[in-house]
Amino acid sequence: MSDPTPAVHDVIIIGSGPAGLTAAVYTARANLAPLVIEGEPSSTSDQPGGQLMLTTEVENFPGFPEGIMGPELMLRFREQALRFGADIRTEKATRVDLSSRPFGVWVGNPEAPEPTYRARAVIVSTGAQSLMLGLEDEGRLIGHGVSTCATCDGFFFRDHEIAVVGGGDSAVEEATFLTKFASKVTMLVRRDQLRASKIMQERAFNNPKIEIRWNTVVKEIVGDSKLEHLVVEDVLSGEQSILPATGLFVAIGHKPNTDLVKGQLELEDNGYLVTGQGGGASTTSVEGVFACGDVQDHTYRQAITAAGSGCMAAIDAERWLEAQHG
Ligand code: NDP
Repeated sequence: MSDPTPAVHDVIIIGSGPAGLTAAVYTARANLAPLVIEGEPSSTSDQPGGQLMLTTEVENFPGFPEGIMGPELMLRFREQALRFGADIRTEKATRVDLSSRPFGVWVGNPEAPEPTYRARAVIVSTGAQSLMLGLEDEGRLIGHGVSTCATCDGFFFRDHEIAVVGGGDSAVEEATFLTKFASKVTMLVRRDQLRASKIMQERAFNNPKIEIRWNTVVKEIVGDSKLEHLVVEDVLSGEQSILPATGLFVAIGHKPNTDLVKGQLELEDNGYLVTGQGGGASTTSVEGVFACGDVQDHTYRQAITAAGSGCMAAIDAERWLEAQHG
């Protein structure tokens, strides 16, 4: 599979969510003929299109006043990148070498002596994944009651009773946001205290629509085509009960997809890529390597902010390449 003398591309983009595909549109329009390694449909953490492939309707992406389905939106991003000549490969990057130039990128066998591709600049847009409970039917009901994004899906639960699992800042933030829509939000917390910061805790305690069930875990997610109820367990007594809920928001943390670059690019303590030192917003600890989207953003994590950061990475890469050519 690997070419013994691979051509050197100007830019390789790894990942194909809103960040990667926006970077592809911009670099393609700048005549950089980007090669996009979009991931493989079989893998959950790096499916082509990213996390939007796991959502249903997206109502907050500007330009779509009637809303658009997440997968349809990503298809449109992809078509736009293709239109300007991006070379999109349905492959999974298995290894990168950012220590020598041009940079090396492997797909397939990571032990192959030569990289599959080489590039002068690399844009890392591998995204992040929500940590999930790992329960049967959880994956099947994502987008059908089970969600990992209150900002994306909260609106669909107007006057419903819903549950949020987790006790950190994210869970409280999601629960608080969801009280704008839901008639009641039950927070399911596995210990007898929240991990969230004090100010966020106060927010949860003072919200009359939020009920906290301490020492409680979800045992079963029940529903045919959509979530119907949960089976929860009191971890102290072992007693199980049914919790009526048409929505379950899983907010137990996120994990940036940095395995590919670990040890080669600087990471923050929380595992996200460090960006923005020494110039552009997307620069990383290695010159010529840029990062955008959720892999470097644990704060906003929205499709539109990811797309915006993809644009910045493309412009940063373009300017850097131009400076190199002198
Ligand atoms: P955290 O890791 O802080 O919290 C995760 C929560 O989920 C904990 O309560 C944890 O319980 C619980 N949990 C983990 N696994 C399970 C499981 N399998 N079943 C049930 N519960 C589980 O993640 P967050 O996403 O909340 O926050 C990540 C970072 O982002 C933090 O630094 C946070 O401060 C920051 N953040 C800040 C915000 C703000 O300031 N507005 C908003 C959102 C995030 P346990 O405590 O028992 O481990």
